Amino acid sequence: MQAISGTDQQRTPSIKGEKQKEELVRAQNCLYQQIQIEAFPDQYALLGKQRSIRISSSLHRLAAFIDEDKALKVRERINAERFTDLQVKHAVILPSNHYVTQLVIQHFHHSMLHRNHETAINLIRLQFHIPGLRKIYRTMHGICKLCKNDASVPIPPMMGDLPEARLAAYSHALAYVRVDYFGPMMVSVGRRCEKRWGVILTCLTTRAINFSWLNLSLRALV
Ligand SMILES: [Zn+2]
Repeated sequence: MQAISGTDQQRTPSIKGEKQKEELVRAQNCLYQQIQIEAFPDQYALLGKQRSIRISSSLHRLAAFIDEDKALKVRERINAERFTDLQVKHAVILPSNHYVTQLVIQHFHHSMLHRNHETAINLIRLQFHIPGLRKIYRTMHGICKLCKNDASVPIPPMMGDLPEARLAAYSHALAYVRVDYFGPMMVSVGRRCEKRWGVILTCLTTRAINFSWLNLSLRALV
């Protein structure tokens, strides 16, 4: 790709942007051409010489042709349509098992923020013809780290056996208890203030609760 020379710095930003866009499109076409020559060497050579390809070829059904940018494309029947750019009227043919094809699918998957998979597939189909696109997209979606994390379901840990006190059937209430203290809180007794602690007794078997106040020191209770 031709590098932008130092004189481009004197140009207006819009011209520089257009130049960069042109170069990007040219680089894209070079990349497509390289991939297509690797994947369809015989068909590309025949079509380059304006000769027909074999009926058994997968590209025959697509009425493939090489456009002015040297990219192999699907011949669509919308040439008379005036509102679509010529570059996107005919989809670029990409092989399904090429790394760049995976990158293209990944790009659209990421641009859709890992959601709207059908929209992503439709957007890809606007520009590219990839055999078995839906299957490849599903595979790419399956190995996407972010999608995997998003779809994962937390697995609760296996709980241990309940203690004997929790299962002591036919025993008196509060036969097995758990004690919780809280406080101290200052309460008024006559004209003075005293400390009080709250105590909660929980029956481990029936889960009955007994609540009371204590006027002893915590040290005495322990
Ligand atoms: Zn994803």
